[in-house]
Amino acid sequence: MTTFKDLGVREDLLRAISEIGYESPMPVQEKVIPHLLNEDSDVVALAQTGTGKTAAFGLPTLQRVDTSSPTVQALILDPTRELCLQTCRDLTDYAKYTSGLNLLAVYGGSNIEVQIKALRRGVQVVVATPGRLLDLIKRGKIDLANVNTVILDEADEMLNMGFVDDINEILSHVPEQRKMLLFSATMPPEISAIASRYMHNPQEYVVGSRNEGAQTVRHIYYMVNARDKYAALKRIVDYLPNIYGIIFCRTRATTQEVASQLLEDGYDADALHGDLSQAQRDAVMKKFREHNLQLLVATDVAARGLDVSDLTHVISFSLPDDNDVYIHRSGRTGRAGKTGVSIAIIHSRERGKLRDIEKHMQKQFERRDVPKPEDIIEKQLFNLADRLEKVEVKEDDIADYLPGVVKKLSWLSSEDLLKRVLSLEFNRLLEYYKNAPVLDYVPEKKQRKKYEKPSPQEKDRRTAEPGYERVYINAGKADGFFAPDLIQLINANTHGQRVDLGRIDLMSGYSLFDVRQADAHRVVSALKNADFYGKRLYLEVASPDKNYAAESGGQPAMNRAERRRREFGAGRKGRTADRRTSRDAERGFKRGKKAQRAAEAPAGNYDKFKKKSKRRK
Ligand code: AMP
Repeated sequence: MTTFKDLGVREDLLRAISEIGYESPMPVQEKVIPHLLNEDSDVVALAQTGTGKTAAFGLPTLQRVDTSSPTVQALILDPTRELCLQTCRDLTDYAKYTSGLNLLAVYGGSNIEVQIKALRRGVQVVVATPGRLLDLIKRGKIDLANVNTVILDEADEMLNMGFVDDINEILSHVPEQRKMLLFSATMPPEISAIASRYMHNPQEYVVGSRNEGAQTVRHIYYMVNARDKYAALKRIVDYLPNIYGIIFCRTRATTQEVASQLLEDGYDADALHGDLSQAQRDAVMKKFREHNLQLLVATDVAARGLDVSDLTHVISFSLPDDNDVYIHRSGRTGRAGKTGVSIAIIHSRERGKLRDIEKHMQKQFERRDVPKPEDIIEKQLFNLADRLEKVEVKEDDIADYLPGVVKKLSWLSSEDLLKRVLSLEFNRLLEYYKNAPVLDYVPEKKQRKKYEKPSPQEKDRRTAEPGYERVYINAGKADGFFAPDLIQLINANTHGQRVDLGRIDLMSGYSLFDVRQADAHRVVSALKNADFYGKRLYLEVASPDKNYAAESGGQPAMNRAERRRREFGAGRKGRTADRRTSRDAERGFKRGKKAQRAAEAPAGNYDKFKKKSKRRK
């Protein structure tokens, strides 16, 4: 296995990185470090953040500095103040045992006089944002005549932020004979243009393939109706009790809205966007970096430069317009050899955009169903059990309080005790997820099946007319089940006894009908387990409190035509109109005539027949 020493890294730097915990070089480091130390040509490296690029350019840059000279010799340009500070922090750590080496971060939004003073004292490595550096150049406060190394870090980001003119101008102040490295996660044509304009015979290194997201990241998407995005987000987060992630939104307003809502709903979340003051942004980032915040809701711009290497997830609450922005988002997880998950919550009209991103990064998203309440409850309870297992018990401190509590709970068995501990969490979840709907997007025609609250209309349907009993049957329109079928079934199964029917309501996956009170139980037991074209029937006297819409599976409507074809092709038998007495039976009688006409139609022509009979109506 190659070591940093094999790559030519000097002893003082080796000591520092080994203390940080870098044992062996990452691929980009294996390629870039020896090149920068030994070769003359420039370097273009296509590497995501998280691949170890900072050490790849940082270690050889530090090693090339002549510490006996106080002049600026290396210039590192970063797109944001945060990234600039992060890079400077990393390089300072690497230079811990290198004496006489001074670094300075130069960025906008901070006191320029302090930076000027520091420059005067002598600095060899300057890490800068383009705007502030240009300001210092124009004021004549920085001398770049001795610069021999220039690094453009996150070049595509600098381009996105409109720094291209600033970079051009800065480079015009740097000697021609410098070594230049360009790091970029993606390779838009503008980056190629900068490379060919300013770089000498650049050697290209690709970590992964061009425009590709990090290999260690899985891409998952959930498709919901636009109005359900927030509810889906909550379910996803509930399903991931140990998530440490960034939720990306496109606008500042949505960012604030989502963060405030999450906070209100009891989540450990905060917002990061451009409407906040620099001090507020710094405070939020610090909290997040130190893991004192679980969820950061951010715009892409505000999150630039926030370097956190151990995110478990990034969530795109809205997809970005630019595919590269998605690559940047997802590249924030799965860093430093860890795996990560990038989640997109989309609505049906964003499918095209998603395909576009897939093509661009040459990777597929996996579609997942939004976690169901029972899955979330299970996950949360296991997490609680896990915490119970791992919690540190401070034996000495708790000893004083324990006897009293033990006495109070002594009447409980250990199983009862456990049930009660779990119920503290379980009851809350159960209450919250009662009647929670299925959130996955289904095309308009297919109805939602589970967890739906009964609509007022549906409640109405469950109440019988006076003198009647309402009966539920597990067959509906999607099964090809209509009023005449019900009548036929009753005729066939009640052995000639008169049955008085009332209102019939046919739904997609089930039906409700009225039967004279005296007949209800007889009908229910007579039809129970009867066969309706392969479907075993189930009936019960309907309860006004039951949500039948939620319980009925419903079969695909496409079976209906096929059933009809079979039915009419074979001819209908056993249908007698004489025992239909209610007004619904009358309706059924009309259908009976229609059915007769259909029986005369050739098999396979039922659909045509249906259209004709509609016109006749
Ligand atoms: P970067 O791409 O520079 O942002 O680095 C991503 C993360 O990887 C940072 O947390 C670095 O500290 C870490 N890292 C860089 N090089 C190594 C290495 N050789 N071994 C272990 N971790 C590393």
